[in-house]
Order: sequence, then structure tokens, then C-alpha cells
Amino acid sequence: MKISGTTKIIGILGNPIKHSLSPRMQNAAIAAMDLNYVYIPLEITDLPKAVQGLGAIDSVVGFNLTIPYKQEILPLLNQITDIAKVVGAVNTVKRTDEGWIGTNTDVYGFLTPLKKMDRNWQDCEVVVLGNGGAARAVVAGCFELGCEIVNVVGRNELKLRKFEQEFSPKIFGQSAKKLQVHTWSSLDKLLARAELVVNTTPIGMVVSSSLPLISPLTIEQINIISASAIIYDLIYTPRPTKLLQLAQARGLISVDGLMMLLYQGAMALEFWTGQLAPIAVMAAALEL
Ligand code: NAP
Repeated sequence: MKISGTTKIIGILGNPIKHSLSPRMQNAAIAAMDLNYVYIPLEITDLPKAVQGLGAIDSVVGFNLTIPYKQEILPLLNQITDIAKVVGAVNTVKRTDEGWIGTNTDVYGFLTPLKKMDRNWQDCEVVVLGNGGAARAVVAGCFELGCEIVNVVGRNELKLRKFEQEFSPKIFGQSAKKLQVHTWSSLDKLLARAELVVNTTPIGMVVSSSLPLISPLTIEQINIISASAIIYDLIYTPRPTKLLQLAQARGLISVDGLMMLLYQGAMALEFWTGQLAPIAVMAAALEL
């Protein structure tokens, strides 16, 4: 990669950010597309200040957002795409003449590995662990698949109620599909009925090899889950996570977050550049 006086900058804002594979994947794509861009990790603690600062740097064309900023970004944007409005979270932002426009590519990334499976999603009941920015994309994705009931499990009742109120009217309108929110104490009975269990919490994400591996579900809870169910962990560091190790030991179908990372990243790159993303190059950079 050659950085010059005309190089355009894309960044990823988050905290923590050191574990992110997005810079490796996006810079491989940028090189293959022969673009004069660079993609950099930006660990931040003050989102409004960071966005204001990036706005003052003309060579910044856009940025990604990751944990914990996907909702906090909303009031700082000038425009939001329809999909981001539905989801209520933004992971990709682009500079335009009218200011920052935010969109959400996580829904597409989340759905890609599931759509490759030969499954009937129509009567499917889902358990989503966590109620943050990624959970919103997951819930939207599950309803796009046609899942019947999506149970969102969180630790804070106020945040859960807010999630339910903000989210359900927009998505479901006239639809009979159901979004239900629960605290962790209800988890066991929900797991017994689930055909898809998705971890959207950062529990199990290990950014340093000296830290122990942990799982959001105990082995007893994994054993409650139906043998035909899919366990999907949005985390991709480590690979596999403790949750997926336990699921695999039980013989359940497991999906990690790497393919989601790939496809949300490809869609984001196309949003910034208007060009087709080189999926195979990006997958190779992730060792997929
Ligand atoms: P976020 O907005 O901060 O949401 C995190 C959620 O997890 C919140 O609901 C939070 O609860 C809950 N949580 C955090 N720690 C917890 C704990 N110890 N016990 C119970 N609940 C806990 O973050 P995000 O942007 O949604 O990201 C979440 C995870 O998904 C991260 O690990 C991220 O790397 C991963 N992700 C991966 C991809 C991919 O492409 N593979 C894409 C998006 C996200 P409270 O609301 O109560 O704090």
C-alpha cells in the first residue's frame, strides 16, 4: 500500500478495537481494487468529538462503527438510510455534500450464512442474547427470513422495554410476527424451544490470549437446546469461541461471526466506493 498526499481515509471507530479484523480485510480489498485509500482502526472514548474531528479532515470519506457506538451515532448523522431507520443502528457512515449519511450493512452480513442453509425458517423460534446495536440487525434479519417468534434476552429491563417499543412497530406493522423481550432468568425455557440461538453480547470475545475463554451459555443450557438448532455467535475472536466449542461438542450446527464480518464489510466498501468489492480477496485476508 502506498500512502500519498491524495490518499483517502476510512476508519473503524470502536472500543475495544484491537481485535478487529476489518483493517486487514478492507486494506486487502483496497489493494486488489487499486484504490488510493487506507482503512485504519480508531479506538475512541468520545464519539461526538471523534465524529466532529473526522468531519474536519477532508480526506476522510467514511467510517465503520463497532461496539459500543452503533446507536450513539444516530443523532450525529445528517441522513439515515431506510434500512438503518428500521434497524435503529448504523455501522457504516459516508461523507456526502449534505454531510454524513449512515446505513446498516450488518443485516445483510448476518443473513448471508443463514441464507446459504437449506432450512425452512417460517415457523422458527429464535433466541437473541443481548439487546445492543448488533442485536437490532439480528432481529431485523430474523424477521426478513420469516422467523415466527424472536425472543430478545437482556440484563436490563428498562433497555429491553425501550428495545421492544422502538423496534416492533416499525418492523412488524400489520405482521403477525412476534418480538418478545425477556431477562436472563427466562432463558432456559426459551432455549428449549429455539431453532436458532444468536449471541450478540461481547461475552466470549477475547482480545488478549492471556484471558480465559468464557461462554454466555453454560453447558447445562447448551444441553437444553434442540439437536437440530443452530448456534450463531457474532464474535470471531477467538475462533471458535467457547460458546461454539460447547455447541460443537454437543453436535449442534455452529456459525461464527467471520462470514458476517466479510459480507457486512463488502457491502460497506461498495457503499463508500461505488465499486464491486472483491469478496474472494477479502475472504482470503480473513483466512476463510
Ligand atoms: P453493543 O451495542 O454494546 O451491545 C452489546 C449487548 O451485550 C448489550 O445489550 C449489552 O447489555 C450486552 N452485554 C454486554 N456485556 C454483557 C454481560 N457481561 N452480560 C450480559 N449482557 C452483556 O455492542 P454491539 O455493537 O451490538 O456488538 C456486540 C458483539 O457483536 C461484539 O462482540 C461485536 O464484536 C459483535 N459483532 C460482530 C459483527 C460481525 O461482523 N461478526 C458485527 C456486529 C457485532 P446492556 O445493554 O445491558 O449493556
